[in-house]
Amino acid sequence: MPEGPEVESVRRELLILQGQPISQIKFTPLSQKYPKYQDKEHDFLPFSGQKVVDIHRYNKFLVWEFEKEPVILNHLGMSGCWTMINTLKEVEEVSTHPKVIVKMKHPPHAIFDDCRNFGQFRIFPSIEEVKKYPPIKKIGIDGLLDPFPLEEFLNRLAEKRFQQKQIGDLLMDARLVSGIGNIYKAETLFKAKLHPERVVSTLTEDETVLLGKSISTILLRALNDKGSSFDARYRLPSGEGGKAQRWHKVYQRIKEPCTECGSKIEKIVQNNRSTYYCPVCQK
Ligand SMILES: [Zn+2]
Repeated sequence: MPEGPEVESVRRELLILQGQPISQIKFTPLSQKYPKYQDKEHDFLPFSGQKVVDIHRYNKFLVWEFEKEPVILNHLGMSGCWTMINTLKEVEEVSTHPKVIVKMKHPPHAIFDDCRNFGQFRIFPSIEEVKKYPPIKKIGIDGLLDPFPLEEFLNRLAEKRFQQKQIGDLLMDARLVSGIGNIYKAETLFKAKLHPERVVSTLTEDETVLLGKSISTILLRALNDKGSSFDARYRLPSGEGGKAQRWHKVYQRIKEPCTECGSKIEKIVQNNRSTYYCPVCQK
């Protein structure tokens, strides 16, 4: 599943559409098999002629803003992706599960490929309404903020509701910090030398500071490398892949030697999500 750095990398490439007018938002024949896309093309006709003013990101949601409201809320889901094309003939060549085609007045055009069908592409009345949408309303700190608001992180981490949580579980909770999924959770905890099962209330002050700094270092490094393309599913609208998988120290490296101490990387399951860690380096 794309995490914060991947979604932000996609957003930045989609901004090639900024200032450009839309010709029509089309739904493919394939999309019509799924209720969430059925008979929606008519609802999207008001976007024809509208210029893309901006594309915002809230955690893993993208919000497309136009000259006039409404806006479009877009989520990549498990494996959704955007691809830029110059002619509509290319749709079948570059996309296996095209659902939505944002046809621009001038190329490039954008195809939304919602491969496993967990994605979203729907109309919201305004950005204000998007901000009231529960999964967005609850978002805590954006982990990709640069500089990272360390004081705010420490204050949030000290909240009573988080004290009895295991840190590996809590890092996945967007109410604390958004943008961290399974990959960057494991890499952050390795960098912070914290065992994923450590309970928040047992962390020392130094450990909490190192944790906050590690979150920021890992997420920004991943963003700089345009995300992780370990499963070949994630790719950017340009067709390029991310490079962050090259420096993963623990994620999906079970039984391989730790780069720091040589011990074998282990895996546990927390809240139904696997976590990779070094049993020696992480306390
Ligand atoms: Zn180690």
